[in-house]
Amino acid sequence: MNILVLNCGSSSLKYQLINSDTEAVLAKGLCERIGIDGKLKHEPAGGEKYVSDAPLADHTAAVQAVIDALLDKDHGVIESVDEIHAVGHRVVHGGEKFASSVLITDEVKQALEDCTELAPLHNPANLIGIAACEKLMPGVPQVGVFDTAFHQTMPEKAYLYAIPYKYYEKYKIRKYGFHGTSHKFVSKECAAMMGKAPEDLRIVTCHLGNGGSLCAVKNGVSVDTSMGFTPLDGIAMGTRSGSIDPAAVLFLMRKENLSIDEMDKVLNKESGVLGVSGVSSDFRDIEEAAAQGNERAALALDTFAYRVAKTIGEYTAAMNGVDAIVFTAGLGENSGSMRAKICEYLGYLGIELDEEKNSKRGEAMQISKEGSKVKVFVIPTNEELMIARDTKEIVENLKK
Ligand code: ADP
Repeated sequence: MNILVLNCGSSSLKYQLINSDTEAVLAKGLCERIGIDGKLKHEPAGGEKYVSDAPLADHTAAVQAVIDALLDKDHGVIESVDEIHAVGHRVVHGGEKFASSVLITDEVKQALEDCTELAPLHNPANLIGIAACEKLMPGVPQVGVFDTAFHQTMPEKAYLYAIPYKYYEKYKIRKYGFHGTSHKFVSKECAAMMGKAPEDLRIVTCHLGNGGSLCAVKNGVSVDTSMGFTPLDGIAMGTRSGSIDPAAVLFLMRKENLSIDEMDKVLNKESGVLGVSGVSSDFRDIEEAAAQGNERAALALDTFAYRVAKTIGEYTAAMNGVDAIVFTAGLGENSGSMRAKICEYLGYLGIELDEEKNSKRGEAMQISKEGSKVKVFVIPTNEELMIARDTKEIVENLKK
């Protein structure tokens, strides 16, 4: 079964066409600047990259451009649109309604509309992407895979904030968590690499990219995670503050006379390791600056590692122990020095890193020594493959 995996943003659309039987990526690409002018970058497996500047007026035009690229006689990979058997959409927010991936129906679309207030930048783009596929590939089953769904297993005590309960009832203010597809993927891969059933393991997954979150995965399900009502909560990130005393926000707004939007920008775009280092939001730049003696760059890295390590400690308490820790995403997969810095705090767990393995890159592997009490892994995330797997399962069940 060929599955088109789509990730629609407000002005971009990422795609992969995956053969879900072999799990091979047949082609992948990206549409950018949708509604502005338009750019499509398309990469068939084993073929030449192709770039087009043809205008992309809206998401329907972008989905059409993707289909055209997939069918193209020179850089295409299929001969007819009928060879796209299903579409899997990455959807950011499923609210409380979706605890797993679902076939998209009119009710599901309505529920997504209802969640729009919770993800004003993302959910509308997903809905437009779904409508574009319905128009251009009528009758092809579409599946929604939610970033929040994996965390719907969190108990009330983990997701409720200690604010008046009426705000949970009225506005559904609670912890939702994000990156769920990634946490699910790497926790399952970790169990497979350990040769154990997910039901028998307590794993802390650390998705450390530009945005970052940790998840406590106990017996195969999420019991806590560090992002909250929005992706601003939790550990420090590239430009996001992560958790901060809410009173400091109120203080700053009063002192600097900041509007809600200005404060929002400070917390989301000017904070995190960028804010502390004053150098960059990219960890590569910060690591380089720190190596050259920039003290604030070093402080930003220390602050980051300390908070990740403390969160691992929290989740060890939440799960009454931990069997494995997984690092994934841009920073988690590539920065051996950051992994080592975090693990330095974890000696109390009996963790011993294998320095040689920790310096390698690119493949899934155990980076702790054989005798380490808690195993540590690097596992490249693959959200697109997880979406394709979920889509396949749902579509195959339709036929039964
Ligand atoms: P997102 O999907 O959240 O945009 P990614 O998972 O692609 O983020 O991660 C991007 C981040 O990973 C970059 O900001 C960069 O700081 C970090 N990163 C990527 N490669 C390296 C590397 N070799 N060393 C250190 N950091 C890296």
